[in-house]
Amino acid sequence: MNANKLKKFKDYILDLLYPRHIKCIFCGNELNENSYNDTCEECMNSLPFITHSCLRCGAPVGDDNSGVCLNCKSSNFDFKLARCVFSYKDKIISVIHKFKYNRMKFLSEPLGKFLCEYFATWNINPDIITSVPLHLSKLKRRGYNQSECIARFLSEKYNIPYYDLCVKIVDNISQTELDLKQRKENVKNVFKFNNEYKKEVKDKTVLIIDDVYTTGSTCNELSKIILSAGAKEIYVLTLAHGLGNQKI
Ligand SMILES: [Zn+2]
Ligand SMILES: [Zn+2]
Repeated sequence: MNANKLKKFKDYILDLLYPRHIKCIFCGNELNENSYNDTCEECMNSLPFITHSCLRCGAPVGDDNSGVCLNCKSSNFDFKLARCVFSYKDKIISVIHKFKYNRMKFLSEPLGKFLCEYFATWNINPDIITSVPLHLSKLKRRGYNQSECIARFLSEKYNIPYYDLCVKIVDNISQTELDLKQRKENVKNVFKFNNEYKKEVKDKTVLIIDDVYTTGSTCNELSKIILSAGAKEIYVLTLAHGLGNQKI
């Protein structure tokens, strides 16, 4: 079986296992005419969209706050601004988990659409879209890079070129269990610029896409690398913000 046929066969099997556009991606209930973007009405009304965010990093903040969160007051980021669509809680945790670890690649479409809708409301004009790379060994294990999938979805929808600007050269330990200081250390020297794109990136505005933003250490490290390669400025957009409601 050639690669193309094999891919079609795999998609066919996946369709049988996880019927698309039939069940809600969050709760599994049947979709109906009130459903939107593969999401049932009930889930749509209860998704933790971020309505008020830190002006710098996009962390969810209370309705009455308008400024930067505590984390941003004490950190200096190399990217200009970051924004997130959802708070990383409730149904968002399980759907991102399925997307990352359960080979449910088809989720890149509805999740990518939520990302696109946020992007449409954000007044920035990137020249290039990129994503947080995975180390090759993890990519092989997982089958795809979830952040790249949603980034490519955005790139196609808005006709903005997508490039893998950075590569991950060290398979470091997961950031999940680390504190802020350890996270910063853990991402040092694990990425490098993909010199193939040196010309493309010169004086350009770059948008980095990731699935979950926690302390910003990973995106900050990538921003440093992309800026040193000649980019003008960097923005970050992620599906979810991993820190709870921040005080201002
Ligand atoms: Zn639902
Ligand atoms: Zn912030």
